[in-house]
Amino acid sequence: MQKPLMRIPYTGPLPPPNILPRNANTITGAIAALSRFLTAPTSRSLQHGGGDPQSTVILSGAGISVASGLADYRGANGTYRVNRNYRPIYYHEFLANHEARKRYWARSFLGWSNLHKAKPNAGHYAIKSLGDMGIIRSVITQNVDSFHSIAHPDIPTLELHGYLRALTCVTCHNDLPREAFQESLARLNPAWAAFLAEAIASGALDTENPEERRAKGMKTNPDGDVDLPGAPYSTFRYPACPHCLANPPISGDDTQTKVEVDEEGAWKSSSTAGILKPAVVMFGESIASRMKDSAEEAIDGSGRLLVLGTSLATYSAWRLARRARERGMPIGILNLGGVRGEEAFFQDLPMGQHGEAGVRVELRTDKVLPGLVDQLKRIGFSHQKGDNSNQAEDDRTNSRAFKDMLS
Ligand SMILES: [Zn+2]
Repeated sequence: MQKPLMRIPYTGPLPPPNILPRNANTITGAIAALSRFLTAPTSRSLQHGGGDPQSTVILSGAGISVASGLADYRGANGTYRVNRNYRPIYYHEFLANHEARKRYWARSFLGWSNLHKAKPNAGHYAIKSLGDMGIIRSVITQNVDSFHSIAHPDIPTLELHGYLRALTCVTCHNDLPREAFQESLARLNPAWAAFLAEAIASGALDTENPEERRAKGMKTNPDGDVDLPGAPYSTFRYPACPHCLANPPISGDDTQTKVEVDEEGAWKSSSTAGILKPAVVMFGESIASRMKDSAEEAIDGSGRLLVLGTSLATYSAWRLARRARERGMPIGILNLGGVRGEEAFFQDLPMGQHGEAGVRVELRTDKVLPGLVDQLKRIGFSHQKGDNSNQAEDDRTNSRAFKDMLS
């Protein structure tokens, strides 16, 4: 078995991109190029893959959620830049170590409120409009914030790295909503709950920068850990999986597991089951093979790939873009900052192409995508799905409209 890659890839900046076509360095130029990209006839070099070769698949990352107030990782104010000591917890550590889980859940308890109040932004809603026009067939996202499925529930969306809206039990694999879990954490850790209320009021949680947090009165150590007098991480408590608690399952090697909790319901280290984890793919944890297969099918089912707000630093995302390239799919990238191996995606572009064969834009998604929707509507992409009672006919009409427009 291949050992998982344990270092965090590409935490430093990547080389700056070549903007393609050259006039895509302004919002207007970018919109014109992306409009041509999305409406061009099917690429002649595209390999047959089933699905709809006229459609586009989106691959998104943290950059698209920055306008919602969430930090990305490698951007100018990204987590890896403002907090150089930042180190995510590894899956094996989380599974093996009760103390590591206490620290993880204490930090996560404080962090959840920001995510919970954040909402999808104009970029996500522009994707909804592109879906309504029949342009976007599916979305693959590395984000765990669920903004895509909230903004455009009708476009099939694959959450490659899972989601934070729920927890999953490592023993019985049942999900538990995060909100209910957060309430349990507050109940089990009253000193932390009081601290959280205070930190929200002071605005200290609005930034990930440890210095800015300190300036707002939140004491943290150099790792970014909160220093809460009288309530160290080692005293933080978290609940057990309610299913395993009610019915301790038989484990894989036929032994009866036990789930023990204290008088208020906090998981005890004498337990052999019932550990809840966030329903995300943690560092060192592999993506489920059925998710990988679905993501590959999503790539193969479309005729072009639009990459939004990601540097493709994680291998699982990068290899999807490489797959698209190998299939002969034109690639468009909208991202602030460099993208891993991007030169290779734009090799051999025809001379004088204006976006049909490839686009590279370095502007914000929430600034470009809404204008792109307006532009496509102006030039005749006003077909709404469902206008026609016969959906199949509607789809054919739409794909004809693409071609008519470009002849
Ligand atoms: Zn369970």
